[in-house]
Amino acid sequence: MIPELSSGSVLMKDPQRVQEILQSMSKAGINTLQVISDFDMTLTRFSYNGKRCPTCHNILDNSKAISDECRQELDHLLKTYYPIEIDTSKPVSEKLPLMVEWWTKAHDLLVEQRIKKDELAEAVRESDAMLREGYELFFDRLHEHGIPLLIFSAGIGDILEEVIRQANVFHSNVKVISNYMDFDESGRLKAFKGELIHIYNKREGALLNTGHFEELRSRPNVLLMGDSLGDLNMADGVQDMKYILKIGYLNDKVEERKQSYLDSYDIVLVNDESLEVPNAVLHYLTSNK
Ligand code: C5P
Ligand code: MG
Repeated sequence: MIPELSSGSVLMKDPQRVQEILQSMSKAGINTLQVISDFDMTLTRFSYNGKRCPTCHNILDNSKAISDECRQELDHLLKTYYPIEIDTSKPVSEKLPLMVEWWTKAHDLLVEQRIKKDELAEAVRESDAMLREGYELFFDRLHEHGIPLLIFSAGIGDILEEVIRQANVFHSNVKVISNYMDFDESGRLKAFKGELIHIYNKREGALLNTGHFEELRSRPNVLLMGDSLGDLNMADGVQDMKYILKIGYLNDKVEERKQSYLDSYDIVLVNDESLEVPNAVLHYLTSNK
């Protein structure tokens, strides 16, 4: 049905079910579809030429906007907490408070640096952040068909927006839910706004944004894309959901995490730095009428 699903990097526990969901969604039509995607390591690349690509946070960690001392502290936090994030031996209940600790400590350090709002664009320009191959087609097709794209990120909204703005894909159908910076009157970072979004509370984040999902009530079918098991909760605010197709990028610790990803995501992509599969799915859904 979709040749790209036969690629070696695509794993599915139940291909028959995937086919059924795709057929049902296709039949319902694109006017019933909404896309919800994570950002870091889902829309952006995990690695390029063997080197890890930065998350929104890492873009700042590696920038001139912060001092060397702060960079070392943030790097220390990353080395301490990232292994916990991807550790399969610990239950979420044990990891959750540690993730809150990571985000809170990192945000406190960034606030101490009193980063200037106008330094963000340069930090992004000079960073190694890259959207996955095929991103133009992905964003442009959704825009062209008027399909709403919600980017739901535990990263930093201001940085995320700058990445997609600089890539010329911040179209009018894109809405972002993320951690946004709050600047004082001199344009320096003084805090982060609202409730913290971290890797394991996307459900709570979704429920705080009922207005967005209410507006999309006529679109009960969802294409969800993520790279963490916490991303599976991004659609928890969707009203009267009918069909959902979940595509998961398994970027790291592949063997240890494969089974849990297969159990939770309909389509699992391994060693795939492109948006080829989501693009093929969208091509099928938008052209099969
Ligand atoms: O956009 P997304 O929800 O994927 O953003 C979360 C990612 O940000 C996590 O996977 C985590 O590894 C990363 N992170 C980071 N530095 C922090 C906190 C989170 O790189 N201080
Ligand atoms: Mg992610």
